[in-house]
Amino acid sequence: MSDTAEILPIVPAGASVLRQVARRVEAAELPGLAGLLEQMAATMRAAPGVGLAAPQVGLGLALAVIEDRADYQARVPAERLLSMERTPVALHCLVNPVLEPVASAGEIELWEGCLSVPGYMGLVRRWRQVRVEAQDAAGAPVVIEARGWYARILQHEIDHLGGALYLDRLTPRTLCEARLWAASWADRPVDEAKRALGA
Ligand code: ZN
Repeated sequence: MSDTAEILPIVPAGASVLRQVARRVEAAELPGLAGLLEQMAATMRAAPGVGLAAPQVGLGLALAVIEDRADYQARVPAERLLSMERTPVALHCLVNPVLEPVASAGEIELWEGCLSVPGYMGLVRRWRQVRVEAQDAAGAPVVIEARGWYARILQHEIDHLGGALYLDRLTPRTLCEARLWAASWADRPVDEAKRALGA
């Protein structure tokens, strides 16, 4: 990735582009979208975030970028990383992704935030394991089998391409201001937070 890619403004919740189904990208369009994918990666890193979907920069295209860097994880206590099943994920993009849950692996409820809903966190129940079929930036087919936090990032970003926000899936009563979350709930059991919040 170039270090000089432009950082794009992130569209906040309330914008209609975040509520529309993103359109499929044709293979012939991909060469012309390389610059956009670089800009999306730069924007994700600047935020910083672990995923960014094209609707979040105002474009209704079925594209997303994902990266969960070891240096981000170094700031998270080891016990929390373990409970999140969170390990580094290299920068990659998703073109026209289609997600299928691996239902036999069950579901898990964890705290989640979104660059389009800055300053907040909430509990979201999601599939623990998923299988995603997509294309890469060159249009080649890719299949991703993911578990834990990476599976959650994939579900969150692919939701964006369907016009959904994590707020739609939030466990009611668990929306938290992010600084309060960091001070009060980040390192406490999820069930304790739910009880305290009446969820
Ligand atoms: Zn998001």
